[in-house]
Amino acid sequence: MSYEAIIGLEAHVELNTNSKMFCSCRVVDSTTSEPNCHVCPVCAGMPGALPSINKRAVEIGILVSLALNCKIEDVSVFARKNYFYPDLPKGYQISQYEKPLASNGYINIGDDHNTSKIHIRRVHLEEDTGKLVHTNDGEKPRGVSLIDLNRAGVPLLEIVSEPDIRSPLEAVNYAKELHSVLTYLEVNSGDMEKGVLRFEANVSVRATGSKHLNTRREIKNLNSFKALQRSIEYEIKQQVTAYKSNETILQETLGWDESNGKTIFQRSKEHSHDYRYFPEPDLPPLIVNDNWKNSILSTMPQLPHTKRAHFLSLGLTDYDARVLASQRKIAEYFELAVKLGSDKNPPVLPKPIANWITTHLFSIINEAGKSIDQIDLPQIHLVSLINLVHSGRTNASSAKLVLREMCKTGESPEIIVAQLGLQQTNDQVTITKTVDKVLANNPDQVTNLLDGKDSIFNWFFGQVMQAMDGKSNPDLVRTTLQDAIKKASYNRGTE
Ligand code: ADP
Ligand code: MG
Ligand code: ZN
Repeated sequence: MSYEAIIGLEAHVELNTNSKMFCSCRVVDSTTSEPNCHVCPVCAGMPGALPSINKRAVEIGILVSLALNCKIEDVSVFARKNYFYPDLPKGYQISQYEKPLASNGYINIGDDHNTSKIHIRRVHLEEDTGKLVHTNDGEKPRGVSLIDLNRAGVPLLEIVSEPDIRSPLEAVNYAKELHSVLTYLEVNSGDMEKGVLRFEANVSVRATGSKHLNTRREIKNLNSFKALQRSIEYEIKQQVTAYKSNETILQETLGWDESNGKTIFQRSKEHSHDYRYFPEPDLPPLIVNDNWKNSILSTMPQLPHTKRAHFLSLGLTDYDARVLASQRKIAEYFELAVKLGSDKNPPVLPKPIANWITTHLFSIINEAGKSIDQIDLPQIHLVSLINLVHSGRTNASSAKLVLREMCKTGESPEIIVAQLGLQQTNDQVTITKTVDKVLANNPDQVTNLLDGKDSIFNWFFGQVMQAMDGKSNPDLVRTTLQDAIKKASYNRGTE
């Protein structure tokens, strides 16, 4: 029997507001800030302290929901989710349950030949918990656990998909698209290693073709695309093996052990009634009217899928369009370069610009561990450089050097080419003279070539390029060399 995987993802998105969800404490980077310096009676859960709703967080929630094609509810209600955990000082989390902020959305994923629509069940607002830090200091063998409440009360948006995902790769594509949308909207830094975007994967398997949904298991706290993919792959294998040996799957919550590539049992799954949800008595219902919704909609930037479609229409490959649209800053960098390229005479086309960015520029950026906006390369310099190559004023391998130098110094390519003496020789007389000299110095090799050892042609080509310090126009060298060899062959025939 063959099995298919059924996957639904929950995403927890920290929102980059200035202040927390229900108090005025600042939101800080919890990986670098001094612990417990941004805490007040509200987020520390002191009795009698009253929460109030962060308007900006609600606006971000609405913006994201609209980008995910969701219906925004006119009235949503905050609810208390009661449970005990040391990082939750109130003993409950304020979340939304029966009436979430938005529901019934979708996003399309996959490439342009093969798309799937993944439906979004709901989007709701809640608050993050504090952070527990377990150390081995203190009395052995137990060590100590420390609590940092800087993160307690930070606005979180939870995005819950329908179980529409069918493979680990599709789960990663969905997660990447979500990541793209959130960073385009500039509501989340996208730094997954800092935990600002975390996924939970719900996984079940069933006989291929069955319509029944089997019991799922949930893998918590997945902080990278790699962990998401590997943990789902692992879990699918586990469940298939279990079904094959007639075991039953129980609804469970699992953790992911990245170093051993295994899931770890955490607890048998609690059900929603275990949380004793009830409407938060300290907060009024949240009302979103059309005016508010429309004014938020009017701030919506172009989203990744629109950029992708635009880039395809410029003649880029599906891959290039996807890579260049994956981050808003890269997409905007490319777009300005295309605009400046079209103003050049002759114009520099989008395709070579895309090639230069995705190959040479990306490798410089990756080596430096920087992002595109941290590198000092005005688009006009990139376009001018491509122009220099196309017009034969420098050759492609020199141009790679020039690109590196431009990123270092911020100078224009014309100046760098002149400074480094990388002008390309298009001077036919010099090239012909050099070719003749190289042939004359190597009579044996000429004989071998004429006797049919064709590979010697490339050796001669290398010799001529070397003799001209690599600065001559390779196309001209090639044709000149071909002509000279034809001539030699003709001469030999007439000897
Ligand atoms: P909870 O809040 O208890 O985790 P939800 O009903 O909100 O439960 O569902 C959580 C996630 O589990 C959703 O993303 C949903 O698509 C997914 N899901 C539900 N049933 C299944 C199933 N049988 N197999 C895989 N995923 C499922
Ligand atoms: Mg869940
Ligand atoms: Zn506070």
